[in-house]
This record gives sequence, C-alpha cells and structure tokens, in this order.
Amino acid sequence: MTPTDCILCKETITGQSMPEHVLLNALGGRTTVRDILCPRCNHEMGIGPDAALAKSTEFIRSICDFRAGDGGRAAMITGLSQGDTRFDLAPGMRARPRAPKPLDVTIDENGISVSIEAYSEKEADRLVTGAATKIAKHLGHTDARVIEAIKQDLLKDKRTQYKPAPPIKQQSDFGCDASQRSMAKACLVLWAKLCGNVEVNGERFDAIRAFIRRATRGPDDTDFITLDTRAHPEAPAEFSRHPIFIWVGSDADGKVYGYFRLYGAVGWRFRLCSAGGRPDQSLCLVSNPFDNRVYDILKGAENFVDPTWIWEMAAATEIDGAVMRQLSELVALATERAHERWSTDLVEETFGGIDDKDGELSREQVDTFVKRFTAAVLARHLQTAIDIDDV
Ligand SMILES: [Zn+2]
Repeated sequence: MTPTDCILCKETITGQSMPEHVLLNALGGRTTVRDILCPRCNHEMGIGPDAALAKSTEFIRSICDFRAGDGGRAAMITGLSQGDTRFDLAPGMRARPRAPKPLDVTIDENGISVSIEAYSEKEADRLVTGAATKIAKHLGHTDARVIEAIKQDLLKDKRTQYKPAPPIKQQSDFGCDASQRSMAKACLVLWAKLCGNVEVNGERFDAIRAFIRRATRGPDDTDFITLDTRAHPEAPAEFSRHPIFIWVGSDADGKVYGYFRLYGAVGWRFRLCSAGGRPDQSLCLVSNPFDNRVYDILKGAENFVDPTWIWEMAAATEIDGAVMRQLSELVALATERAHERWSTDLVEETFGGIDDKDGELSREQVDTFVKRFTAAVLARHLQTAIDIDDV
C-alpha cells in the first residue's frame, strides 16, 4: 500500500489526480486536496452523492443567494405561479414573471405590429432594440438613427407594471441517503488530509467506505449515522450564526467520528471507525455561507467544537423544534437581505446608466422613482399587479 492509494477503491492513484473539494464547491467550498481520491471515484462521487447533496440544498442556496466556492450562483427556481402569471425566482428571492411571449413582431400587408413583454427595464430595452432593428431592416434601413427613431416610437406606448411576487413553498429534502454518502465522504477525506491515506485505507474504515461507495450499512447499527438537531457550539462570529462545518476527531481508543453541519441548522454524525484509528486527533473545516471567502481549518485546541459535544450525542434524535427555529431564522435573514436588495434594484433600475455629474436628481427622476416605489409597494401589499401610470 502506497501513500497515494485512493481512500475509496484503494487502487493506486496514477497520473494527474483531480483536485477534490473537501466541502463541495456548490456549498461554497474552497479547500481542495489531491491524491486522496482517484479520478474515477472523484467522478463517481461527483455525479452521484455530491450531486444529490448539491440538489437537496439548492432551494436554500437560491433563496439565500449563497455562492459556490468558485463564485457561481445557485440555480433559478422555476415554475412558480400567482394567478395566471408564472414566475421564476432568481437567486436572492428576485421574482421574475415569465412573459408567455416576450417579443412578437408581425409584419404583413396590414402593417407592423409589435408586442413586447419584459420583466426588467434592461430586458425591455434589449427586446425593443431587437424589434426596431428588425423593422428597420424590413424597411430597407440599417442606419442607427433610423433604428433609434423606431425604438423611441415603440417606447411611446410602453407601460410598466409591478406584479407581486408569489409565495414560495418548496420542500427541501435535506439529508437524503445519497447526500449522507457525500457528507460521510467529506469527513473521510478530511480525516485522510489529517492522518494520511494509509491510515484511512486500513480495514477498520471499510464499513464507512462501503456506505460511501455503495450505500451499504449493517443492520441495527444506530451509532453508525446519527442525525443531530441540537443547537451547535457557537462558532467564531466571522463564520456567521449559520456556518457549515465538517469535523473529524478521535478519542483515546482511536474511535473516529466525522460530523457534517449544514447551515448551522442540522447535522449528521458518522462513525468512521469503531476503534484503533489514530487517537486524540481533531480537525474542523468551517465556512461562512454568506461569504465563502471566510473559511478556516482549525486544529485541536483552536477548534470551537468540543469532542465531548460530538461524543455525547444521543442516538436516533427526532427532528424537533430546534431545526425549524434555526431554518426559519435563516429564511428570515434571507428575506431581510432580499428586501435590502429589492430597494437597491429599484434605485438601479430608475437611475442606473444616467450620468449624474452634479449628484443632483432632476424633478423627473424623483417623480419616476416615487411612482415606481409606490407601485412596487402597492403591488406587494395588495397582491395584485399595479400599473405605474395609475399611481
Ligand atoms: Zn478510487
């Protein structure tokens, strides 16, 4: 056995191994390791358990606008509806009504008719420019001034409406079996980072390895995977009240546990080996989901997770009020952030792109802003579409 045998299939890692994220990139992970998993196991984990964990957290990542480790945003939540309007929800709870037919230009012997439906000023401008270009081309012009004139003509009939965002209801399947395999793998990778591949490739780690690779587990083994809904030990403030942390540690007999906490809300403890592992070690990777540049790997004494807290966990904990409290606190935080962004977006939409050298707003700009603001607030409170020209 060489130091570079894969900790899942135990085959020697040959060639260039891919960097493996300890915490998934999708969950904001930035720390990678090499020569711990072979390219094949890395790939199989990526398309299987890792994808399941990413999927099960997609909704919470989207509404909170949590970024991936590489800066990527969570996916749009699609297919919501309010009355007969369909909505998508961009990351950060930004509602995007879906136009059934964004641009419709009909040119026939009766003339030209244009219908444009857009969910932002920017989008409307792009569509109007497209329509104007199409019409100009039909009339045999490519001159920018002609296109601009047609565009201005089309904009004369423009009406802006604010529509209330739909209520959001979605079931999140935190911690399904496949995502537990990804979390257990993260713990095993962290243990290998601390103690080396040779330690992890010992037979005493075969049970957790079989679970990670094939979802197999012994019957009636309540200590193997334990769901934890207790409040977690407070992490240093820089990691937020909702940190993600992956902890691994052993006692004096070399019993090794791994622990994975998601957004401070809920955790899973995995028994990596029953006895004989390297004794009295611990390591914890902690990451702030609101700003994933803030993360650290804490060793031994500097670790905010006390091993006793991991060890004293009772088996078969039921989901209780604590999880709900922590999750609703997270959603409340996300909503607050969305409201802040909502007013920033409105200001940007009204004043963005206007070169305001003196820092003074024209009467017209102020009027427009007040109208938009009022329409948007009314739409939200009355739960109906409000035309800004009616305000
Ligand atoms: Zn492998």
